[in-house]
Amino acid sequence: MRISPVFLNLYKNQNLVQSGTAVQSTPPPNAAKINSADSVNFSARIHEYFPKKFLKEILMCGLPCPVCGKKLIPLELLNEPAVDALRLFDKNIHNMTEINKLIFFKMAELAPAHPTMNMQAILKMLHAKAEKNLIREQFLILDELNFLCGEIPKSKVPELHSLLSETKGILYQRGKQENKKFKRKSAISRFDDFALSLSDDKVRLKIMNAIRQLPTSDNNTNAFIVKYSSRSPEEIGMKLYNKDFGTMEHIIPESSGGRIVIWECSEDNGARGNKPLNMQLSQKPEMFGYLQKHFDRLIQIYYEDAPTPYLATQKNLLKEYIFTAKNEFAIASRQVLNIDISALGDIPAFMIIREIKRIRDMGCTQYLRNLYKLLQEK
Ligand SMILES: [Zn+2]
Repeated sequence: MRISPVFLNLYKNQNLVQSGTAVQSTPPPNAAKINSADSVNFSARIHEYFPKKFLKEILMCGLPCPVCGKKLIPLELLNEPAVDALRLFDKNIHNMTEINKLIFFKMAELAPAHPTMNMQAILKMLHAKAEKNLIREQFLILDELNFLCGEIPKSKVPELHSLLSETKGILYQRGKQENKKFKRKSAISRFDDFALSLSDDKVRLKIMNAIRQLPTSDNNTNAFIVKYSSRSPEEIGMKLYNKDFGTMEHIIPESSGGRIVIWECSEDNGARGNKPLNMQLSQKPEMFGYLQKHFDRLIQIYYEDAPTPYLATQKNLLKEYIFTAKNEFAIASRQVLNIDISALGDIPAFMIIREIKRIRDMGCTQYLRNLYKLLQEK
């Protein structure tokens, strides 16, 4: 069956998207191209089709990860007072790094006495002392570098001295002047530059190794507290343990025209690296079962009277999300993954028309035919 060009032009030239309904805007066909703006506006554009609030609330209703099946934790819960938020980690403590464990227990010790404070507020209480200790540790590293003055050419000593005193100055100023904040990375690169100007390989390596002893939030609790006491509770939680949290992922990469995101665990999201989700489908056949469970839960939410007060008013949007996500999986897997959403009931014609328009923009003619057939049945 061939789709008549007249039919396609009809949708190209007329605005058939009903006003006041779910989809807020239809991106132009060339929106799929990769450009530098993509990376800049990434988070804003994820929510182009389905509002952020909507996506967050479906996660709050509890969803299994579509890749591994484990229950996803909504990041939002990390904003609760620390006494409650820290309970989310109960099952995961043994998987934390040593530093993260120490931070966890420090917060757990303080939290009950401060029942309204979130994790950030608890870290803030520890900040002043941690900063003092951190500066002491950083100075020790810089003093070690000072000892190396005896091993470099005399003509280079003043340069190393001024680099050291400048760095110490920035450390003392920490937090007082925003533009003079100490950055470990830039300190390392400045000392590396100096080391590279030396001809002696041995001393060059010594300098490069010594400056890398500066503590990081991965290996030092003071550095963790100083860095993360200015971060949101969500970031703190992700840093402590980030495997079960729900994160958003495009089904089809945005650069290929994909517009729909689904929730999956941060472990699977992180493990995939730059590989798109649709590539994983062919390599992980067991994913189909989890994916179906993910959709079954979404359909269950659809039938709940009031899963959340907001979602109770967004039934059509939820139906469209399920229908649209199913379509993207079918396209992504070349229709190998035929997710069963029949329990969702009838899909209104206007949703199918909107999908035809969207998928036409993606250039997936094969799937377009199926949708067209579905429309004809109505
Ligand atoms: Zn997972």
